[in-house]
Amino acid sequence: MSASAVGVSFRPGELEVRPDGTGNQLGSRCSACGAHFFPVREACSGCLSDQLETVRFSTEGTLYTFSIVRQSTPAFEVPYALGYVDFPEGVRIMGQISGIDLDEIKIGMPMVLSLEPFGEDEEGNPLTGYRFRPAEGN
Ligand SMILES: [Zn+2]
Repeated sequence: MSASAVGVSFRPGELEVRPDGTGNQLGSRCSACGAHFFPVREACSGCLSDQLETVRFSTEGTLYTFSIVRQSTPAFEVPYALGYVDFPEGVRIMGQISGIDLDEIKIGMPMVLSLEPFGEDEEGNPLTGYRFRPAEGN
């Protein structure tokens, strides 16, 4: 993929998108107690410390649960699947599920972060957002 085909992150505080098309979700790690949070935040809800550092999360997790959405706003084509994915850092992140037939989705599936087009900014530049898709081999 050429660099020009890679959009900028739709939410730079949640998703880092690099020129080579790879990226990571971003969050915070509490330096005092080690807790992780998504997205980036300024204080730890566990110990109230404000000593948080921004970290890149793993791109591989496990599907905790999901739901099939059959009614939505006109902005989203239905039906689609919305799921929660658990990551090794201890965060659970919600997102749309892509790359699989809706009736094939199973709780506990290995999932990977999938960077996908997410419309355009006000100047017409392509934006990149994220979904989760099944890991290869599933
Ligand atoms: Zn803490």
